[in-house]
Amino acid sequence: MATVVRTYEPGYWDKFYLPAIARGLLLTLVRMFRRKDTIPYPDIKYVPADGYRGLHRLNKDEDGRIKCVACEMCQTACPAHCIDIVPEPAPWDDGGEERHPAKFEIDLLKCIFCGFCELACPKDAIELTEIYDYASFSRDDLIIDREGLLKVYDITSMGNIYERQNRGESIQIDTGNL
Ligand code: SF4
Ligand code: SF4
Repeated sequence: MATVVRTYEPGYWDKFYLPAIARGLLLTLVRMFRRKDTIPYPDIKYVPADGYRGLHRLNKDEDGRIKCVACEMCQTACPAHCIDIVPEPAPWDDGGEERHPAKFEIDLLKCIFCGFCELACPKDAIELTEIYDYASFSRDDLIIDREGLLKVYDITSMGNIYERQNRGESIQIDTGNL
């Protein structure tokens, strides 16, 4: 069935443009008193919803040791092949975990932030955090290493960093390379 497209024919008052201007000003006036959809970033940081999948961290246990046992399950589950783990015997000899990662790197430029690594981990050792505002001029800087991932744990384990920054706390996202 054919679609009839009618051309716009301005009415008598439309030719004065005044009704359209009045409608536009009224719309502006109404919007002025509505809740703003924008925020003055970076003075105020956007706080993502719970479950947001941002920069990764490696968790520590109650003794401050890395929880990761270098089982490589996250590396196997990662669809982007951006996790690189090299295991080694754990340095502690007290009946705890026998392995830990000598190297644990994530290429953030390849990562698609799917969260599969977090789901695959049997030790609750890797977790995606709320952090979204990291950047670099160098590709190499966007490969985060074990120490960087542990630093992310240190700055995020005391609560959402953007809520804390919005309360006036000074928190630098310094994860080594980033
Ligand atoms: S979030 Fe997804 S793509 Fe990124 S490291 Fe984890 S499994 Fe790989
Ligand atoms: S982060 Fe979890 S899944 Fe990945 S190697 Fe460590 S313990 Fe295994």
